[in-house]
Amino acid sequence: MYDVLIVGAGPSGLAAGISTRENGLSVKIIDEFPHAGGRLLGQLHEEPTGEWWNGIKETKKLLDQAEQLKVEISLLVSVHHIEKLEDSFITHTNSGKITSKTVLIATGAAETAAPIPGWTLPGVMSIGAAQVMTNVHRVRVGNQGIVVGVNVLSAAITRELQLAGVGIHSMALPAMNVVTGDKVMQNLVRIAHLAPSWFIRYGSNFAKIGLIRKLVVKFFPKKGIKMWDMPIHLRKAVLEINGTDKVESVTMGTVSSTGKLVKGTEEEIPVDFVCIAGGLYPLAELAAVIGCPFEYIEELGGHVPVHNEEMETPLPGVYVSGNITGIESAKVARAQGTVAGLSISKTLIKKNRKIKKQLKKAIHDVEKTRKSASIQFHPEIDTGRKKVHQAFKEI
Ligand SMILES: Cc1cc2nc3c(=O)[nH]c(=O)nc-3n(C[C@H](O)[C@H](O)[C@H](O)COP(=O)(O)OP(=O)(O)OC[C@H]3O[C@@H](n4cnc5c(N)ncnc54)[C@H](O)[C@@H]3O)c2cc1C
Repeated sequence: MYDVLIVGAGPSGLAAGISTRENGLSVKIIDEFPHAGGRLLGQLHEEPTGEWWNGIKETKKLLDQAEQLKVEISLLVSVHHIEKLEDSFITHTNSGKITSKTVLIATGAAETAAPIPGWTLPGVMSIGAAQVMTNVHRVRVGNQGIVVGVNVLSAAITRELQLAGVGIHSMALPAMNVVTGDKVMQNLVRIAHLAPSWFIRYGSNFAKIGLIRKLVVKFFPKKGIKMWDMPIHLRKAVLEINGTDKVESVTMGTVSSTGKLVKGTEEEIPVDFVCIAGGLYPLAELAAVIGCPFEYIEELGGHVPVHNEEMETPLPGVYVSGNITGIESAKVARAQGTVAGLSISKTLIKKNRKIKKQLKKAIHDVEKTRKSASIQFHPEIDTGRKKVHQAFKEI
């Protein structure tokens, strides 16, 4: 019987494992992936300060700490069910059952599928798959490709592909999507501060104002704007992916500011791979299986298990942290993991003032990290957090 079982060895699960072990609890972390680190492993970007955020190095720091503290980590273990008994939990995995007093679900996020005609051809992949192949497995995804879907994640990963020497024709919208221009612009504004161009960085500050943003979409040049020397198209959409046995080209067309295809503008662009970016949503099925109540909160990325700022769910003994609670950057997920670990320690080690004090500080750290995050997936994250904490209070 472990004190804590953590599902997910991403930045959140690892940080939680470290803080629970620091308080002397017995903890086991399990993950279905062959490497610990979760989505952190694929991340590589330059911060506005000029420093580089290297996910592999950040993972190593967490793993070194976990190893020193003798945190037990088992990989290639997939959870499909969690059962609640009177005072404990049984977690069902592909390699047997694990019993624990508490459970932390830190399963992260998944990508939303965004099908377009031709998307089953070999050479079409999600943008996250391209990130994992490039940065984790060091596999070249192709020679020249196109990214369909313009959002914070696709912009960051496209930059990573460029840095790895993979050719990118451009980023464009998916065909079915009418130009939800204002939303797409909001996305661009939230990534533009990472761009090396002074013009884009400072121009994006003006575009934070709604009216200006709408005007920008209306007058967005048909040939796109360039960020990191790569065209971003808001007025061109990928209509179809073509090829016989694999991707050979895409058909692209100009769309009006209201999203209608301008007839006769279709052109064929030769590419050998296509990345589709439909956005992220919290991967929360296990919380549903165990019976956690849910709320749909758009500002957090979809359905999230109800929880409070100490990462407790209304089910005693069940905790959540990281992207399962809302889509944010790895730094926030890691900070939330520390909160969850301390919160579990507070529950299992009664009347410990030091832990309570540490927990308060850790909650403050999450807010501080959120405010200074260089990658922000959702603009209204604070509103979303308030809504979910309110839902917890009401329950
Ligand atoms: C494709 C993708 C790319 C991303 N790229 C970036 C980026 O470039 N920059 C950025 O700031 N953020 C990125 N994110 C957001 C990212 O999720 C956070 O940065 C951070 O990694 C979240 O940490 P986490 O610990 O909550 O989850 P994760 O890092 O996702 O870790 C969750 C872990 O849980 C495991 N798991 C899930 N379900 C089960 C199960 N049933 N059984 C066992 N194990 C399970 C997974 O294998 C995974 O290792 C990305 C997210 C995705 C989905």
